[in-house]
Order: sequence, then structure tokens, then C-alpha cells
Amino acid sequence: MTTYDYDLFVIGAGSGGVRAARMSAATGVKVAIAEEKHLGGTCVNVGCVPKKLMVFASHFAEDFEDAAGFGWTVGERQFNWNTLIENKNKEIERLNGIYKRMLENAGVDIVNGRARLVSDHSVEVDGKIITAEKILVTVGGTPSVPEFPGSDLVINSDQFFFLPEMPKTMVVVGGGYIAVEFAGIMNGLGVETHLVYRGDKLLKHFDHATSDFVAHEMQKKGITIHYNTNVEHIEKLENGRLQCKLDNGQSLTAGQVMYATGRRSLTNDLGIEKVGLETRDNASIVANDSFQTSVPSIFALGDVIGTPELTPVATAQAMVFVSQQYGDGERTITYDNIPTAIFSQPNIGTVGLSEQAAVKEGMKIDVYQSEFRHLKHTLSGNEERVLMRMIVEQGSQKVIGMHMAGPDAGEIIQGFAVAVKAGLTKSQYDATIGIHPTAAEEFVTLRDISYSV
Ligand code: NDP
Repeated sequence: MTTYDYDLFVIGAGSGGVRAARMSAATGVKVAIAEEKHLGGTCVNVGCVPKKLMVFASHFAEDFEDAAGFGWTVGERQFNWNTLIENKNKEIERLNGIYKRMLENAGVDIVNGRARLVSDHSVEVDGKIITAEKILVTVGGTPSVPEFPGSDLVINSDQFFFLPEMPKTMVVVGGGYIAVEFAGIMNGLGVETHLVYRGDKLLKHFDHATSDFVAHEMQKKGITIHYNTNVEHIEKLENGRLQCKLDNGQSLTAGQVMYATGRRSLTNDLGIEKVGLETRDNASIVANDSFQTSVPSIFALGDVIGTPELTPVATAQAMVFVSQQYGDGERTITYDNIPTAIFSQPNIGTVGLSEQAAVKEGMKIDVYQSEFRHLKHTLSGNEERVLMRMIVEQGSQKVIGMHMAGPDAGEIIQGFAVAVKAGLTKSQYDATIGIHPTAAEEFVTLRDISYSV
């Protein structure tokens, strides 16, 4: 019988890799995990966690304004970027430490360094060959910036988190999750923010009425959105500022230009070709429902396999992997009805089908919709509004989609996601008593169909 150094060798200690490593080790198998940077991967270090901390930071500006209507006098306000970055870095270091302890306590060996695949049962780290019965690739992704004249002058979302100083003006390019969230952060912190998007609809894969609503709210808060526009080239001026020449003939000058134009799998220099792993054109690894790649002893999960690039998806996949390889094999995952939030300002929370997706699938639907001013803003004077939409399939009366734009939309939709996943009907929502006064109660008191499609 062949003996290996490990039963499982995991490459990449992001959300999926760490979860798979420690849960596998908990079943008694011998596990090692390799990481060349910081434990926790994108989410902990340059993604969800620091991003959300910065969303909190940026929202204070509005909170101070809102307080006046409730009788508060807030003195002179000052924002210190370095304090935010230092405190954020400390918190991330604390989380790195937690990840390290969790892995060590589970009995996982941590290998610091870049691992490359050498064969179907071996990897190389810093010149040392390590063998394993199974190898799991969880290397995730990285921001992808197109090449054009001056593209070397722009930053991506990873670099944003470590900017030595806050620019006075910022151009953000892209129209997806990251562009919308980061434009909101900068605008909240008082930076003159321009969002340059090549299309005519931000967040185009989301429920259109909801994304249009948020785009309008973002403009009300001061973000300038340049639709149907792209950057042709960028030049550094003598004063250090960056001049973006747009394809509509205009120019924008800013302290920083951030590209949020999607992410690509981190599969380069990984030994993929050496072991013959099948990949797609966008470099993601092809894996089956059990996360097995074209090489039977090598598995892959998380952002690197082209499924929705979300931390909870990667950790859920890891649990399925562990269940199937080292457990009772009963866990499975489906990719429908994945709830998600965009921490734009206001937030979007969404689960299930958008109006467009339902129509595309040939469904006849009723749309219930409510738009209102949040109770808090009756005294604050803040002009922000809330939108709540529910998509109901006419025949079955099942609620097949819920979309919200407003404060805590992610928190609210997370709860309702259970109901959508469970396939509950509109009448079961109607039979649920609301919690008063909340915005969320609106979802169980939507009486009248707004329109049908
Ligand atoms: P997205 O794929 O969401 O958006 C990319 C945007 O960039 C699109 O609007 C796209 O335009 C535009 N774009 C792509 N290429 C170019 C180009 N060459 N020139 C100009 N514009 C271009 O990617 P993100 O980077 O925003 O986010 C990546 C992923 O990370 C998300 O899909 C999501 O899964 C995850 N994420 C999740 C978050 C959350 O859960 N809250 C937060 C942040 C990220 P077009 O629409 O025309 O294609």
C-alpha cells in the first residue's frame, strides 16, 4: 500500500480551504494546508471583512447628519483615514491569529509558502516535495484589470485597503458588486466619487428595478455615475494626479483610479499544466458536483471553480467535500436561491429570481412592491428611500424572489431566504404576523399586486 505524507493536502487557506482542512482533520485524517500570504484568504484580508468595516466607517457621515433631527448636536467632525486603516489592520491580524489557532487546534499542519502541483499525489513547496492521497485546490481569485495605456497607474480592490492616504477625488471603473460598494465607501467618507461604467445598468445581473433604484439613491447621495463610458487611457500629471481620458471625449482627473472589473482564478504558476488539470478559458478549474477535477485525486472548490464567488458558497462546498470524502456523504449543495447582499448605500439584499430571470424562464408572475421612507428618516430628514419587492409565481403562488434596497437589507433577506428556499407560498407569508414597527414587516403585509408579467 502506498503511504503518503498526508491524507489531504489543501492549497490555499481562504474560507473554503480552511473550512475543508479543519473539518477533515476533525474526522481523524492527517491534513496540511499551504498558504503563501495571510490565513483567511480574500474574504478576511482584502474582501468581505475589511470592506464591511469600511462601509460602517463611511456611513457615520450620514448618521451624524441624521442625529440632528433627533435633538443631537454633533460637534465638528473629522475623519482620519490612517486610524481607520490601522484599526482595520489590527482586526485583520486578530482574525489571522484566530484562523491559525483554529487550524492548529484541529491538528492541521500549516505550511507557509507557495505550493505547486507536481503530480496527482504530490506538491512542491520551497523545493520540498510533499505527498498526499488527495489534494484540494482552494486558491481563489484575484482582481482582474484590463490592459490599456496607463493601466499600470490604477489600483485594484486589494490595494485600496492599504492606500497610504485617502484621495480627494476617486474614479471607480466597473458596474458590479465591488465597484458599487467601493464607490459608496468613498462617497460616504467625503471623497468626490465618479463611477465609470461601460453599460447602461449597474448590477445588471440583479433585479433591474432594485438595481435602478439603488443607482438613483447613489446619485442622490452624491456619486456621479458615467454610464455607457469607458476609460481609454490614463496619464499621470505633474502634480501626481491621474487624468482619465474617457471614450466620450471627456476627461476626469482624480487622486486614485480603482478598477473593479471582475476577478480571475489564481491558477497561474500552480502546476496545472504539469498534472493536466482541465481549466476553462477564464482559467477556472473544471470540477464535478463532488469537486473532483479531471485528475481523480485532485479536488477543487471555492472561487477557483467558477461557481458563485461568495464566501458562504465556498464554506458550504467545503462541508460537502468533507462529508463526501471523510463523512457520511449525505451533504449536498444546490446553487439556486443563494441569498446575497451588496453593501452599497443603501444595501441590497436579494434571494431567488429577479423579475427578468422569472420572465426569461417563461413564468407568469405577480410582482408585489412597496417603496417608502424609513421610519427613522421621518425625523432625520434624510431623503433615502426603501424598496421591497416580492416575485410570486402565479400558478403555484410560491414566492420565488425577494429583493430589497434599504438599511439592513442583507440582515432581513437572510431570514426570508429560508422561506424562499423552503418554497413557501404568498398566503403563508400573509399568515405570518409582522413585527411592528420594522421595515421587514412590509414583506408580510404586501396585500396588493403591483403588476403582473
Ligand atoms: P463583477 O463581475 O460583479 O462586475 C465586473 C464589472 O466590471 C461589470 O460591471 C463589467 O461590465 C465590468 N467590466 C468587466 N470588464 C471590463 C472592462 N474590460 N472594461 C470596463 N468594465 C469592465 O465583478 P466584481 O469585480 O465587482 O466582483 C467580483 C465578484 O466578487 C462578484 O461577482 C461577487 O461574486 C464577489 N463579491 C461579492 C460581494 C458580496 O457578496 N457583497 C462583494 C464583492 C465581490 P459588464 O457588466 O458590462 O460586463
